[in-house]
Amino acid sequence: MAEQKRDYYEVLGVGRDASEEEIKKAYRVLAKKYHPDVNPGDKEAEKKFKEASEAYAVLSDTEKRRQYDQFGHSAFDGTGGFGSGGFDFNGADFGDIFGDIFGDIFGGSRSRSAGNGPMKGANIRTSVRVTFNEAVFGTEKTLTLNLKDPCPTCGGTGAKPGTSPKMCPKCSGKGQVVYTQQSFFGTMRNVQTCPQCSGSGKIIEDKCTTCGGSGYTTSKKTISVSIPAGIDNGQSVRIREKGEPGINGGPRGDLLVEVIVEQDRRFVRQDYDIYSTVAISYAIAALGGSVVIETVDGHVIYDVKAGTQTDTRVRLKGKGVPTLQNRNVRGDHYVTLVVETPDKLSKEAKELLRQFDELTGDSLNAAARIESGEAQPQQHEARKKGWKFGKK
Ligand SMILES: [Zn+2]
Ligand SMILES: [Zn+2]
Repeated sequence: MAEQKRDYYEVLGVGRDASEEEIKKAYRVLAKKYHPDVNPGDKEAEKKFKEASEAYAVLSDTEKRRQYDQFGHSAFDGTGGFGSGGFDFNGADFGDIFGDIFGDIFGGSRSRSAGNGPMKGANIRTSVRVTFNEAVFGTEKTLTLNLKDPCPTCGGTGAKPGTSPKMCPKCSGKGQVVYTQQSFFGTMRNVQTCPQCSGSGKIIEDKCTTCGGSGYTTSKKTISVSIPAGIDNGQSVRIREKGEPGINGGPRGDLLVEVIVEQDRRFVRQDYDIYSTVAISYAIAALGGSVVIETVDGHVIYDVKAGTQTDTRVRLKGKGVPTLQNRNVRGDHYVTLVVETPDKLSKEAKELLRQFDELTGDSLNAAARIESGEAQPQQHEARKKGWKFGKK
């Protein structure tokens, strides 16, 4: 080995038994301090940044960390288990951590340039429509997307085969330029994307004819998406490494698929519970009887108790939506029983209803009796029971 490599734990300044969180925290501090965007032109900082990134890539990956603990650096230099070609950044989850850092430094916007370090590609967002039932029980969907791939002719450099991109003279390959500005508050340093190379740090003189110098080709790809049972409207499914290609050998970004759940005329969902309304006849409400209730599992026969009032809510336990964490744990289905007033009655039915009314208090003639002085107005039933008005 040409140069003695420092121990990864030492690089990050953590103990050998450091937790994942401690490692991430230590790296975040170092990355923020030595990031090329914060130290333009500082070679020492860049070296430190790369060293810390490499240490983090290994120690944040359980499998690689285990190999490193066992074999040391030789695990990755060709004599150990990792093959030749130096260090492999693939699989290291830089996306989140860089997102955090850039968020901290640049107020939310991810910078295009991370010096020459590997950068995860950008995430792609898309959406997919599913029915109410598909969201409840999960489904598979196929998406067709235009995805970028590194150009096969030039291998992603954008330069004609046999030629190679030149370092941008304006930014010396850094991809950004620093403008110093005098202001009322003092000197301000503005870091801007290099206008000559648009941030790539490279100038291509002979463009690859396949990709026109972009380094990418675009093709239609079909991707199947597994929609998990219990997903709700507006939630997203993340498919790792199906986003934009990474930069400088970094991993691809992710594909984020937002799920749009179609409305169902029968059901309303709230979290993991389902709500619906079932109309019951006056006879069933008064005498009790069986009604058919539609659920996401199919029909359920429910026995309505005699004397059921309108707007009574019943619970069908475990007939709601499976939770995302465990599809065997489900919410409930609440059914509101609404007593239906008949509006089309036959002559005979009307006559029987009049007889029924006579037997049960003669409500049809109560007003007439009060008008003629035959009866005294009675306190309304609702007041007697102390019910509150305007409230269910
Ligand atoms: Zn090309
Ligand atoms: Zn430039």
